[in-house]
Amino acid sequence: MSRFPLSTRIKDLPPYLFAELDRKKEEVRARGVDIIDLGVGDPDRPTPKHIVDRMKRETAVPANHQYPSYEGLLSFRSAAANWYRRRFGVSLDPSSEVVTLIGSKEGIAHFPLAFVNPGDGVLVPDPGYPVYHIATMFAGGRSHFMPLLRENGFLPDLDRVPRPVLAKAKILFLNYPNNPTSAVADRKFYRKVLGFAEEHDLIVAHDVAYTEIYFDAKKPMSILELPGAKKRCIEFHSLSKTYNMTGWRIGFAVGNPELVAGIGKVKTNVDSGVFQAVQGAGIEALTSGDEITDAIRRTYRERRDILVPGLRALGLDPVEPRATFYVWIPVPKGYTSASFCSHLLEEAGIVTTPGNGFGKSGEGYIRIALTKEKRRIREALSRMQKVGF
Ligand SMILES: *Cc1c(COP(=O)(O)O)cnc(C)c1O
Repeated sequence: MSRFPLSTRIKDLPPYLFAELDRKKEEVRARGVDIIDLGVGDPDRPTPKHIVDRMKRETAVPANHQYPSYEGLLSFRSAAANWYRRRFGVSLDPSSEVVTLIGSKEGIAHFPLAFVNPGDGVLVPDPGYPVYHIATMFAGGRSHFMPLLRENGFLPDLDRVPRPVLAKAKILFLNYPNNPTSAVADRKFYRKVLGFAEEHDLIVAHDVAYTEIYFDAKKPMSILELPGAKKRCIEFHSLSKTYNMTGWRIGFAVGNPELVAGIGKVKTNVDSGVFQAVQGAGIEALTSGDEITDAIRRTYRERRDILVPGLRALGLDPVEPRATFYVWIPVPKGYTSASFCSHLLEEAGIVTTPGNGFGKSGEGYIRIALTKEKRRIREALSRMQKVGF
């Protein structure tokens, strides 16, 4: 018996499927194997220099050494609003419709605390970013998982959500471009979402961390581009993936002012906002020229264009990513997500992520992140060919 038993909310957390994989990874590494880690969704390239330089200047400003405001500098929120107007043609009031976040994960994790009562339902994509479900649990809510299937373009089939679930549901979480499937949603889908949310009085919480990592001429859209969307939608945006800034911890949420204020209420009580120097660097990032994000997209595109044809040549049937830096791959016959990941790790020294780590419907897939140089991706392909499956 432990003297300090963990709370049920921690004990009830879904099993950490990566623990076994982490252990195996260390075991293989200890054997002296040169490991190619294509598991983590963390950009490998550094933050662009002009952003780092701005940060250096901002740290010297004494006003930045004090507590920031919980909702963020108005100058950062204005930069975010201007960026939304430029990129999506969406108008936002920076003082009431934008809140600065300590990374979008922070906002997503806190959001249900503001709007979910014990027993309330939350609609969660499966496979999906684990935070939607965990945040729901922490708020005492119940997740209803919506399968994302290849035959539906990895969009949830909203008509299949049972009536009794809808009667109790408060929030619909969505994430496009999607981690882990790389799917993109179109205007038709967002229109359907909005109609559905109106009909069932749902909040739409859209995680848009990957809108700038795209490969098609047609850019991913914001649900806020639809007329009336601001009535019930909030979007969580992040500088992490767009500008190679995962370590800096800065993002923002935009949309309906009551929803934005709800996050603010939680934040005032649990954190004290983002270091103002980081917000200054964030302004620098959001006002970057397109050449910065073009270069980042080009990097992932080149890697994608090596990996995807290479996997096909090996007889696999990967989903061709139109956005994000992930490749979602059905496992070969005879394998599960976990056994295929183990095979690649133990025989070829390649780390990938088992699809079931993102939810039940991710079983039968693995995810490869395009976060290593082309040379390493080629090396991974040649090792896969050598070991077979
Ligand atoms: C990386 C990621 C985020 C979180 O990014 P932050 O670094 O917290 O801003 C949010 N959602 C998805 C789907 C992600 O992959």
